[in-house]
Amino acid sequence: MPAPVTGVLADLDRILLSTEQIQSRVAEMAATLNRHYANKTVSVLALMDGALFFVADLLRHLEVPVRLYTVSASSYHGGTASSGEVRMNWPAGLDFQGQDVLLLDDILDTGLTLGVLRDKIAAQQPASLRTGVLLAKKRERVRDVIVEDIGFEIEDEFVVGYGMDYQGRFRNLPCIGILNPA
Ligand code: 5GP
Ligand code: MG
Repeated sequence: MPAPVTGVLADLDRILLSTEQIQSRVAEMAATLNRHYANKTVSVLALMDGALFFVADLLRHLEVPVRLYTVSASSYHGGTASSGEVRMNWPAGLDFQGQDVLLLDDILDTGLTLGVLRDKIAAQQPASLRTGVLLAKKRERVRDVIVEDIGFEIEDEFVVGYGMDYQGRFRNLPCIGILNPA
């Protein structure tokens, strides 16, 4: 008989992506980026808080020089569906002119968040701009956005873990799961 599931995992309906699946895909994504940015310095802009774990793992595989910047952006404001309005606090003085910028987020859903951020960076005339997400939901985008690197395409379900929260919880799960509706 399997051991009873206790602790934070007990709140999950099921595990969507295991720790091993995530880690091996993140390593593959890093290998692509190492080839793409060979002989360059990459300025990474990580969207907090959701991309924290993804970025921390991905960047440790990068062999090119990296500068790391963070910006907080949110469109969910605590619920399980996008509010349609993107709030961000762009750090004063952060300017990517002439830099090779890699924008990273946890998940692509409506496309609004990454759309707003890409516009903001593009307006600063970077040398190049590339966007990566660990997850992309298979759904119609409210806004079409170019995302060069996608870890996994997933169904349109609300996920938690590996940086992603529900009302502030579950970010520390090493795997990604679907919440128990109860
Ligand atoms: P978008 O602007 O593309 O609709 O949403 C992107 C942001 O919404 C992500 O950065 C993430 O913070 C949040 N988000 C979208 N889908 C999910 C989800 O299934 N679970 C969680 N925890 N956050 C999500
Ligand atoms: Mg986010």
